[in-house]
Amino acid sequence: MKTIAVLGTGMAGLGAAHALEGRDVQCVVYDKNPYYGGHTASFVQPNGFLFDVGPHVSFTKDERIQALFAGNVCQKYEILPARLNNYWHGYWITHPAQCNLYGLPTDLVVNIIRDFVEVHAQEPTEIHNYAEWLLAAYGRTFAETFPVVYGLKYHTTTPDNMATEWLGPRMYRPSLEEVLRGALAPEPITEIHYVTGFRYPSYGGFVSFVKPVAERADVRLCHKMVALDTSKRTLRFANGAVHDYDQVVSSVPLPDLIPCIEDVPADVLEAAGRLAYTTVVMVNLGIDRPDLSTSHISYFYDEDVIFPRLSFPHKLSPHNVPDGMGSIQAELYFSKKYRPLTCAPETLIPRVVSDLHKVGILRESDSVVFQEARVAKYANVIYDLERAEALATVHGFLDEVGIHYCGRYGNWDHAWTDQSFASGERAAEAALCAI
Ligand SMILES: Cc1cc2nc3c(=O)[nH]c(=O)nc-3n(C[C@H](O)[C@H](O)[C@H](O)COP(=O)(O)OP(=O)(O)OC[C@H]3O[C@@H](n4cnc5c(N)ncnc54)[C@H](O)[C@@H]3O)c2cc1C
Repeated sequence: MKTIAVLGTGMAGLGAAHALEGRDVQCVVYDKNPYYGGHTASFVQPNGFLFDVGPHVSFTKDERIQALFAGNVCQKYEILPARLNNYWHGYWITHPAQCNLYGLPTDLVVNIIRDFVEVHAQEPTEIHNYAEWLLAAYGRTFAETFPVVYGLKYHTTTPDNMATEWLGPRMYRPSLEEVLRGALAPEPITEIHYVTGFRYPSYGGFVSFVKPVAERADVRLCHKMVALDTSKRTLRFANGAVHDYDQVVSSVPLPDLIPCIEDVPADVLEAAGRLAYTTVVMVNLGIDRPDLSTSHISYFYDEDVIFPRLSFPHKLSPHNVPDGMGSIQAELYFSKKYRPLTCAPETLIPRVVSDLHKVGILRESDSVVFQEARVAKYANVIYDLERAEALATVHGFLDEVGIHYCGRYGNWDHAWTDQSFASGERAAEAALCAI
């Protein structure tokens, strides 16, 4: 029987394994970690607090994937109407901010509306970068008060250094009527956001949505691929093992994959080195009180608040915390290229706790009963102005040598979990065809 090797057990690798189940081929799935799930792995602490590696909810509209995930948890999942809010200088407003200005200082709202009307009266011009897109979509005051500040915290680079092809539905462009209605009336406008509701497993964290796929597959953990020879069709692993393959599907992040390939041309190696990405430090906290927030996710626009985003895992499933407790996951972003992480991740915990007090989420009487800082080296692809050209070089080479790449870090995009899973399925089908 021919062998298809799959590198990675995240959504993409498990998507590939799922597609190859019951097919006339041997599928072996390798991962460097001692656990499966990649960026969507979930960890339960001995004291009962559960945190996913990154904050994850499923908002896919793909009914096939909805049904697959639901079946994998035996229909035991929470259906939650998305509650998202924003914090700016002591004000809390509903998400997205551009449609929910009600309650902000009058001068700010007047300036936002004036600029919004002005840019919408202008003839559309050619957009060269994200900074120009923000000005054209929202006008100067809103752009500079909200997404420019948030974006620097989240993407680690300035919007004039970013392209726009990642935007998709992520940044909503409201009509004038929506801006006015949201500024004048207290009722929040929520239904226009691309996420209006989500699903989350009742038990075991987000990874439960794919657990049966991993358990049925031939998964080899603690197998870090360190060398890939496309002419001999062999994979060498850090633990000394060497395995043959007929076709290979890889979800390994491109900057790590390319240096492992034997005889990789210098220009491809150089291009892979130019691909920028953020690294996220997740500060996970267990608190002795559940009523920490009315939202599932909160966005923070102030420069002097260290986290751009918070989520509250105990609000996704009551089984994510011990009875009567609450939990917070703060995300802090760094990047090798633009804002290197230069301190030990744990040293960021006191600053997060202090800023939680500053924004009023934690009270003096609260106790932090659990704390940890966890790092995910690859978080978001940075769509800087170098990405498109460098990526074309890297993908061109992988196509030439017959490596089937997939997932957020193989395709090098902003795929959500369902899209990463489906890209793994597609890469597996391509590998089957190539056998
Ligand atoms: C902070 C954050 C929040 C997010 N929230 C959501 C959300 O709410 N909903 C949603 O749908 N999506 C969300 N996403 C997107 C989602 O995380 C991704 O789409 C998905 O997890 C990517 O899966 P993947 O398999 O492509 O990558 P990964 O999960 O990173 O899998 C890659 C795998 O390859 C393995 N690997 C790497 N190098 C090697 C090697 N040399 N040898 C062997 N194995 C190796 C890794 O250990 C890993 O298991 C979020 C992303 C981030 C960063």
